[in-house]
Amino acid sequence: MTTLLEARGVTKIYGAGLFHRGQTVALEGFSLRIETEPPTITAIVGESGSGKTTLARLLLGMTIPTSGAILYHGKDLRKLSRREWREFRRDVQAIFQDPYEVYNPFYRVDHVLLTPLKKFGLVKSDREARERIVEALEAVGLRPDETLGRYPHQLSGGQRQRVMVARALLVRPRLIIADEPVSMVDASLRATILESLRTLTRDFGVSLIYITHDLITAYQISDNIIVLYRGSVAEAGHAEPVVQEPQHPYTRLLIGSIPMPDPDRAWSEEQDPSEIGRLADPRSGCKFASRCPYAMEMCLERHPSLYQTERYRVTACYLYREAPVLAGEYLDEAFARPGVAGPAVAASGAVDEPTSSP
Ligand code: ADP
Ligand code: MG
Repeated sequence: MTTLLEARGVTKIYGAGLFHRGQTVALEGFSLRIETEPPTITAIVGESGSGKTTLARLLLGMTIPTSGAILYHGKDLRKLSRREWREFRRDVQAIFQDPYEVYNPFYRVDHVLLTPLKKFGLVKSDREARERIVEALEAVGLRPDETLGRYPHQLSGGQRQRVMVARALLVRPRLIIADEPVSMVDASLRATILESLRTLTRDFGVSLIYITHDLITAYQISDNIIVLYRGSVAEAGHAEPVVQEPQHPYTRLLIGSIPMPDPDRAWSEEQDPSEIGRLADPRSGCKFASRCPYAMEMCLERHPSLYQTERYRVTACYLYREAPVLAGEYLDEAFARPGVAGPAVAASGAVDEPTSSP
């Protein structure tokens, strides 16, 4: 098992230049590793402005961290040779919110599919290129004869986004980073596109980082979920426990605001912050304190560490301060790994560690 891509203590502050006014901490102290094997689906969930796109851009090398580093096969992106950078650009593909931005309106759709194949020298002839493209389009449920030869405006939003999925898979990457891939697509098509994204990543053995503001689709397609709140991780872990029994007051709020299919589940409304929470200063203490119904004195002092409350879950909240702090800073220490039996973590006293483990 080797690490494909790694965020090591990454912080991104905008406006950290000459004038230190109006600084935005878009992401703070974020550490995560994506291994080459087995393929995993990780969702990054958070409301608008929580730092999701910043994280995607950092992982793709489109923006550089203010501190910390992004590493590809253990090497800082900033230090890759031209050859390594090319490999990185092939291995890690992106799908963005608005596929329209990727298309040049004056070129047919074929162009956007042909370019990466040629750029990475993956085909020897036009015929081979065409075969690969047809195969990719069919894999995402598009009919090649209805897609090729068309201009971007002649396709629907859903078709354009499917072409993007086909394009991302065409170069056989190891990881796809999809930033809100279905938020501009008709609601009726969202589930199908997500489902095809999931099946395809599984079939092709590609890992996926699925970025969304929608906890439910995150739950539907991912193995693990990371909940971001104002640039910090509120809660992370295996998708089941995070969604079924949310711990962090922010995750509870997110879950509470969506109708659950299970009628026995209580719906909760957004609650008012506690008396102490009302006094919270957004620049110090827990970032969520000003909205938190459980805020205590200690929450005003320092943002909480990530407590490992269960084997497959960490929560940044003082309500769980009895639990051990996540050993090491990497979130994936608390992730369930598909296909790997036994404890994923050499958990230093994780709360529900099975007694039978060595
Ligand atoms: P999300 O994708 O979750 O909506 P973003 O990563 O786009 O969040 O933004 C996180 C924060 O960083 C926001 O407060 C946003 O205003 C700020 N931000 C994002 N990009 C820039 C930028 N280029 N310059 C200044 N601030 C930015
Ligand atoms: Mg965004």
